[in-house]
This record gives sequence, structure tokens and C-alpha cells, in this order.
Amino acid sequence: MIGMGILKGMAVTLRNFAGSYFEKDRLITVQYPEERSPLPENYRNFPFLIFDGNDPQAGLRCVACQICEKECPPQCIYITKSKDKKPDYIGKPQFYPAIFDIDISVCMSCQICVEVCPFEAIKMDKDFELSKRERFDNLLFRKEQLSKSNDYYHKIHPVEAAAVDKNLADAAAVAEAKKKAAAEAAAKAAAAKAAAAAAPTPVASPESTSS
Ligand code: SF4
Ligand code: SF4
Repeated sequence: MIGMGILKGMAVTLRNFAGSYFEKDRLITVQYPEERSPLPENYRNFPFLIFDGNDPQAGLRCVACQICEKECPPQCIYITKSKDKKPDYIGKPQFYPAIFDIDISVCMSCQICVEVCPFEAIKMDKDFELSKRERFDNLLFRKEQLSKSNDYYHKIHPVEAAAVDKNLADAAAVAEAKKKAAAEAAAKAAAAKAAAAAAPTPVASPESTSS
């Protein structure tokens, strides 16, 4: 029958309209900004940098390798590598970014910087209330503004952050096991060398020297 689809659609609308007075699930609008719908785990907006512990400088995971800067399609990441080094999460001395800026007026939220980072140092944020009056400087986010704690990452992406923590813990355990094995091998080699040096030197017999 012609128009049946329209009638069915109107019936759904009517059912939801009437039902919204009785069932909260049918009410799909919220009184923003007083009320906010929870964002899904995989919602993403602009990138931010993660730091471990309480110190955003000392705990920053980024080692200024600049891979993200090279791979960013619109080239909106600007990094200057430090001259000195600081220990990373496994205690290995690494460079860090003296400057790390992202121009979020250019960023297209593609997440490529996150995908290419070998150090789990950059992740996607969920903060979307970022409008500013000024187009230029105010939308160029500096390292200090971009740095957020691992606890914050757990709050906005709990499942993903737990998986990342596990990967880092596994990598640290492997590095620690390798370090221990290398130390044991070096100790064994040193002990063998010391034993060889302490062993008495064989004295040649008169027969063997005369022939
Ligand atoms: S999300 Fe994409 S566009 Fe934005 S900084 Fe990362 S790589 Fe660049
Ligand atoms: S965020 Fe990751 S990829 Fe980018 S410079 Fe830092 S360590 Fe390298």
C-alpha cells in the first residue's frame, strides 16, 4: 500500500515521543552543557602526550624520535629534540622533546601519530570543548598543555590504557631479563678467566726439553 512506510515511520516517532515521558532510554536529547552523554571508549578528538608518575617533565614518555612529526599527513606537529638525555621507562637514557607543539586547527584527528609512535607516548584525547576566539596562537597547543597523566588516559580510555600498561610492563620485564642474563654471562666469563689465571703452569720435563 502506498504511504505504508511513512505511516510506520510516524508510528515509531509517536511511540518514542510518548514513551520518552516514561522511559529515560527513549529520551535521546540531553540538556547540554548541564547534562552530558557519556562518550564511547573509542571516541577520539585530538592527540595528547602521556607522562608517568606525577612529574610531567621527568615522566614524559616521548623520546623526541620525531616519527609522528614526519608521518603526520597535514604536518601539524612541531618537535625540537633536547640536547641532553633522561632515563625512559626501562631506565635507558633517551632524548626528550624540548619543544612539542600540535596545531589543532590543522590536525584532522586521523590518529596516525598514535599508530606510528613506538613508545606509547601519544594518544587521542576526548576533550572537544576547545573553541577559542583567536585562530592562531591559541590553537597551537604546547607541550605543557598537551602533557596529561597516565591516570587521565585510564579515565578516558580504560580498556586501551590497560592493554598499553600490560605491553609496557611485558617489554620492561623482557629488558630486565636480558639485562640479568647478560650480567650472569659476564660474571661467569670473569670467574672462568680468574680460574684459568689461578691454575698452576705445567713444568716441562727434561726429556721433552732435550729432544
Ligand atoms: S591526529 Fe593525524 S593530523 Fe592530528 S597530529 Fe596526529 S597524525 Fe597529525
Ligand atoms: S610522540 Fe612518539 S613518535 Fe612522536 S616523537 Fe614522541 S616518541 Fe616519537
